[in-house]
Amino acid sequence: MTVTQPVKAVVIVGGGTAGWLTAGIIAARHQARMKAGGFSITLIESPDIRIIGVGEGTWPTMRQSLERMGVSETALFRDCDAAFKQGGKFAGWTTGAADDAYYHPLMLPQGFAQLNLVPHWMRETHKHSFCDFVTPQGRLCDEGLAPKLITSPEYRGLANYAYHLDAAKFAPFLATHCTEKLGVRHVLGNVVQVNQRESGDIESVLTPEAGEISGDLFIDCSGFSALLIGKTLGVGFKECGDILFCDTALAAQVPYETPDAPMASQTISTAREAGWIWDICLPTRRGVGYVYSSRHSSEEAARETLQRYIGPQHRDLPPARKIPIRSGHRQTFWKNNCIAVGLAGGFLEPLESSAIVLVELSAKMIAEQMPANRQVMDIIAKRFNDVTMYRWGRIIDFLKLHYVLTRRTDTAFWRDNVDPASVPERLKELLELWKYHPPWFFDEFDRLEEVFPAASYQYVLYGMGFQSEISPEDTIDTGLLASRLRQENERQTFELRSRLPKNRELLNKIHEYGLQPV
Ligand SMILES: Cc1cc2nc3c(=O)[nH]c(=O)nc-3n(C[C@H](O)[C@H](O)[C@H](O)COP(=O)(O)OP(=O)(O)OC[C@H]3O[C@@H](n4cnc5c(N)ncnc54)[C@H](O)[C@@H]3O)c2cc1C
Repeated sequence: MTVTQPVKAVVIVGGGTAGWLTAGIIAARHQARMKAGGFSITLIESPDIRIIGVGEGTWPTMRQSLERMGVSETALFRDCDAAFKQGGKFAGWTTGAADDAYYHPLMLPQGFAQLNLVPHWMRETHKHSFCDFVTPQGRLCDEGLAPKLITSPEYRGLANYAYHLDAAKFAPFLATHCTEKLGVRHVLGNVVQVNQRESGDIESVLTPEAGEISGDLFIDCSGFSALLIGKTLGVGFKECGDILFCDTALAAQVPYETPDAPMASQTISTAREAGWIWDICLPTRRGVGYVYSSRHSSEEAARETLQRYIGPQHRDLPPARKIPIRSGHRQTFWKNNCIAVGLAGGFLEPLESSAIVLVELSAKMIAEQMPANRQVMDIIAKRFNDVTMYRWGRIIDFLKLHYVLTRRTDTAFWRDNVDPASVPERLKELLELWKYHPPWFFDEFDRLEEVFPAASYQYVLYGMGFQSEISPEDTIDTGLLASRLRQENERQTFELRSRLPKNRELLNKIHEYGLQPV
């Protein structure tokens, strides 16, 4: 390939959620070129190595990603056992008391772009939780309500939402769509050799099943094995286990007591002795797992903790699957003509479902900035690395925020988590600042597609009882606007609570009648 030859052939190695989402997002953006025969996407997937098959919580970006790919939302609900997700509920993180819980909902606070409601909430002597003061969504979750109606078109909601879905079904679902509707070529084969040019660029990969496959741009979606970016190009891994201690997950699937049992509309994350337990409701079962630190708990104790949560009536379930977690990310994500996306790029504990959203954002950027030729590739790679590194850093800060605000001292895990040596410098600085200036809108979160905007920080900080010192003057000029936004919040809450159906009721209707396509 000469430096000015166009980039025409994209090869993706790996057919998990990362591989197929990346293929679909790029293919949807370059359909015209693909149909004209000037651009191709090939996805190679091992018939022998299973996809990770966990990862059931998504972010609202998924709606846009799927809609752009032309996926039917009704089909997603029916084929992937999908359900609605309206945020996260964090139980036991602050004090560990029975009533200790707060929401990180997906709706922004009322009038977020106009006014920071934090000072007004602080002055209201905390009659409501911060979440209830600024958005209806916590109360919708309390009541197990869906975020839309059966008459709402696909991908549109009355409240913001993402999905809980069966990860083992999602990748094959996307594969069918990408191959049948978007022209992605699917090769079942084991990559056993990677051929490089003198420059270090990857020229082709070899599979015994389908021979040699060449490409101009390679995307490594090979999961934890990081076949191209790690094993071939030797890009190192930046560990962050000294900040985020959880390094093991035990994943289980739990049946409902009855087929029509109520379904929570939020991921429930319950703090435990040495980590936390996720609980995700799908229509046919729950996905439940314990993410813990092996430095603070033995596997046996962790299994007991998980079993206690699941309940004695489920003693006979198959043993929870153990998955080691290596917290951290690649030192660079795009090297030569190879980009790491998904687990090949890194992984952090799934406390805020940040992995799949990063896949979507990476794929979107690759699709938008698809290099015209090799000559300009390094310039785009530099940008991509800069943005991606920024995102990993912010996600690490945000996840650590959940731990650093705890007042729990009952186990070494929680005590160690507030050790200043384990807190990133930037987060320490922000916490200092937020004592006097509550985070808002453009404060420090200035990127176009910030994974966690200032609103997310507000929900966690004030959900966990963080105190910002507010002077009375801070609220005088904006008092009128604040009370208008408060009234609007109450009006919306009333309206949504009276109109929205229960989560399971709507899912049943979607299965029976479908949503209106957009
Ligand atoms: C316990 C746990 C919980 C999680 N929960 C969430 C969550 O709630 N939300 C979220 O966003 N994320 C979550 N994640 C992360 C999420 O599961 C992953 O980001 C997502 O599934 C993407 O995985 P992947 O496609 O990168 O890798 P994989 O699913 O592992 O796919 C790797 C692919 O590479 C192929 N492959 C490997 N080697 C070769 C080879 N030599 N030749 C050819 N093909 C090869 C395999 O066959 C497979 O198709 C969780 C992860 C874990 C471990």
